[in-house]
Amino acid sequence: MERIYIGMGSNLADPAEQLRSAVEALAQLPQTELVGVSGFYQSDSLLPGQPRYTNAVAALDSSLAPLNLLDALQAIENGQGRERLERWGPRTLDLDIVLFGDRLIDEPRLKVPHYHLQERAFVLYPLAELAPADLRLADGRTLPALLAACPFVGLERLSPN
Ligand code: ATP
Ligand code: MG
Ligand code: MG
Repeated sequence: MERIYIGMGSNLADPAEQLRSAVEALAQLPQTELVGVSGFYQSDSLLPGQPRYTNAVAALDSSLAPLNLLDALQAIENGQGRERLERWGPRTLDLDIVLFGDRLIDEPRLKVPHYHLQERAFVLYPLAELAPADLRLADGRTLPALLAACPFVGLERLSPN
């Protein structure tokens, strides 16, 4: 089993409900246990003119291979009506593998740690709710350093989930 962190985002069709459904689907994955879910956050869209996003991070323990997990995440996205019309367009559900144990993965379909992690407060702050405070990534960066370099801006923690 490896500890995996999944970044979740939605800005269409009742985003909080999309994330709750996604969490249920993650909990049903084979060879996988759901370990925890962060609080839900709202963030400004990276592109102007889109609705605000709801974001959270889920922690899993899984023995799935990384590309099999990616396939399963894309099936969950598709099952919740994800349409891929334009890059970074509005979406019912985005599930990204943020961290996968202490693996560095650089394949055409999968880069881990997620390549935009360091500039995304909406991933780093929910991740920090679940991960060990002194988490060190496979590439040597630490979570405290990433948080220190990424201010809590444009983000709002919703409570309760
Ligand atoms: P961003 O990657 O900037 O968050 P996005 O999540 O909107 O953008 P998607 O349309 O969901 O992008 O995915 C595009 C492709 O990214 C996927 O088909 C997948 O193969 C690839 N990909 C690479 N690394 C990852 C990862 N760590 N998690 C999920 N998908 C990844
Ligand atoms: Mg994404
Ligand atoms: Mg994605």
